[in-house]
Amino acid sequence: MMEAMANTPIFLSRPYLDEEDIQAVVDVLRSGNLVQGDKVLKLEQNINDLTGSKFSSAVSNGTASLHLALLALGIGQGDEVIVPAFSYIATGNAVELTGAKPVFVDVHLETFNIDESKLEAAITSHTKCIMPVHEFGLCANMEVIMAIAAKHKLFVVEDAACAIGASHYGKFAGTFGDFGSFSLHPRKSVTSGEGGILTTQNPALDRKIKTLRNHGIAPDRIPMEFVAAGFNYRLTDFQAALVSSQMRRLQQIFQHKNELVELYNQGLKQNGIVLPSVPDGNVHSWQTFHILCKDEYFRNSLIDHLKSHQIFTNYGAQCIPAMTYYKEKYKYDVAKLFPNSFKAYTCGLALPMSERLTKEEVQAVINRINQFTNDQK
Ligand SMILES: *Cc1c(COP(=O)(O)O)cnc(C)c1O
Repeated sequence: MMEAMANTPIFLSRPYLDEEDIQAVVDVLRSGNLVQGDKVLKLEQNINDLTGSKFSSAVSNGTASLHLALLALGIGQGDEVIVPAFSYIATGNAVELTGAKPVFVDVHLETFNIDESKLEAAITSHTKCIMPVHEFGLCANMEVIMAIAAKHKLFVVEDAACAIGASHYGKFAGTFGDFGSFSLHPRKSVTSGEGGILTTQNPALDRKIKTLRNHGIAPDRIPMEFVAAGFNYRLTDFQAALVSSQMRRLQQIFQHKNELVELYNQGLKQNGIVLPSVPDGNVHSWQTFHILCKDEYFRNSLIDHLKSHQIFTNYGAQCIPAMTYYKEKYKYDVAKLFPNSFKAYTCGLALPMSERLTKEEVQAVINRINQFTNDQK
C-alpha cells in the first residue's frame, strides 16, 4: 500500500468532473443549442445567487473578462490603471490590451495582495482605475481600496479570477468594485475549460458588457441592431452547463479544501518556510495554497526534491514587471521598487491543492517537505 502510494504522482491541481457534470454537457450537445443561450443565462443567475451580485455576464475566459471591464469603463490610451506587481500575467496584459499603462504597486508578503498603504503614492492625474487582485482566492483589503478609489474618483475592477465564493466581512469577491472578474480555467474552483464571468451592480455597465461580448448587438432590441464594434467573447451553452453542474457542490469543494489546508498548517514544520496567513473577516477560496521559502535556491531545491518523489509543485504567480515584455518596455528596477513581489515570485511555492486531492496525498507532501527542510539545517 505504502509502496504503491510512493509511485503515484501527486499533481499541483487536477480538475474533477463527476458523471452528472459530464451528463450535463452531453445533454446540451444532444439539444443542438451550442452557443450562448439558456444555459448561459442559468449560469449567470447561479453566480448572482452565490455572490449577491445584481448582474453577471459569462464570457470566453478570465482575460477577455478583464479586457471587457476596462473597455466598458472607457479606459484606453493615455490612462493609467493601478495593478499589483505580483499576479498572474493576464492582470497586466489586460491593461496593455486597452492601450492604457499598468502602474505596478508592491504586495504584502503575508497575504500576497496589493499593499493598500502604497496605493495613493501611485495615483497620478492619468489614473482611471485600481485593479486589485484577490490573489490565490483571498480578498484584498477592499474597505481601504474602495475608500481610496472614492476619494480620488477612480474605478475599481476586481481581478477575482481565483476568488469565486471568497468573501470579506460577509461581502463576496466581485461585488465591491464597478466590476468583478472571474476565471473558469481548470486551475480555478469550477471550470468550463476556458471561461470567465463579469459581475457588476450597474445596469448600464452590464448592458455595455452584454453588447460588447456579442458583436456589438444591443441585447434586447428587435429588430437586431449593431450599436458597437464588439467582440465575440461569448461562452458556449455546454460550457455554462458544465459550470452550473459543478456549482452544486461548491460548498463541498470549499469544505474539502479547508480540511486540506488544516492538514498543511498543522503538519508543515516552519523550517525555512512561511505558511499563508488569512486576516480576520476573510473566507479564503484556496485556489492555491502558497508558501514562502527563505530564498530562491531553497525554493528551487525543494521543487526538485518533491519532483524526484513524483510530487509536482510550481511557483504561484509572476512578478509582472520582471517578465520580458514588461521589463523591456518599462525598465523598472524591479528588486528595488517591488521587493515583496520579487520575493513572492522567486521564493513562493504553490503546493498541491484541488477538489480531487486526498488527505493521504497531502500527508505525503507534508512528509516530503518536512524531510527536506530538516535536512537543510
Ligand atoms: C487565471 C487568472 C487570470 C486569467 O484567467 P483566464 O481565464 O486564464 O484568462 C487572470 N488573473 C488572475 C489573477 C488569474 O489567476
